[in-house]
Amino acid sequence: MQITNMPSGPLAVNTYYVLDEKTGKGFIVDPGGWNEQMKNHIMSTGADLEYVILTHGHADHILGVQALLKDFPGAKVVAHEKESEMLMDSSFNMSAQFGQPVSISPDLKVKEGDTLTVGSLELKFFFTPGHSPGGMCVYIEEENVLFSGDTLFQSSIGRTDFPGCSFSALAESIHTKLWPLPDETAVYPGHMGPTNIGFEKGHNPFV
Ligand SMILES: [Zn+2]
Ligand SMILES: [Zn+2]
Repeated sequence: MQITNMPSGPLAVNTYYVLDEKTGKGFIVDPGGWNEQMKNHIMSTGADLEYVILTHGHADHILGVQALLKDFPGAKVVAHEKESEMLMDSSFNMSAQFGQPVSISPDLKVKEGDTLTVGSLELKFFFTPGHSPGGMCVYIEEENVLFSGDTLFQSSIGRTDFPGCSFSALAESIHTKLWPLPDETAVYPGHMGPTNIGFEKGHNPFV
């Protein structure tokens, strides 16, 4: 599995392109923006881009979805079922405030424990509300990798001062869904650099 971080959009959110080299299938996590370099990189790998996975509905993670789908019309948008309202509402998802109002209707709505196969990879979704009502993390057990969105950052956690946020829900999500993962699980967050579960369990000052 190959992970490329292509920061994108107005807040340079970490946009991950994941390629399963064994099968040539790939997916994107959180396209906050979209540009020619990103398109060309994916094209250059020859991948079949199957899914666009949204960890949650905030504008900085979704503003690139529509442009991406023009280049890769076969890709299916995946989000948690409880994030539908935010994805459809350009005020709630804050895209209107960025001057680029978008409404997104996911092709595939998932919930806690659902899995999705991309080539030889099995992705598992954890429902991790708190930073947003339908926030989720994406876990690939075989590869020891977690895409944590804005739930968990390196020595930090997502903001809980937006509409629909709850600090207690976020803390519970992290304690019940993320801390049980193996210490060596690599964490690829929506902002800032990567970390791992063991380090965060020992050092994260917020949870
Ligand atoms: Zn967010
Ligand atoms: Zn964010």
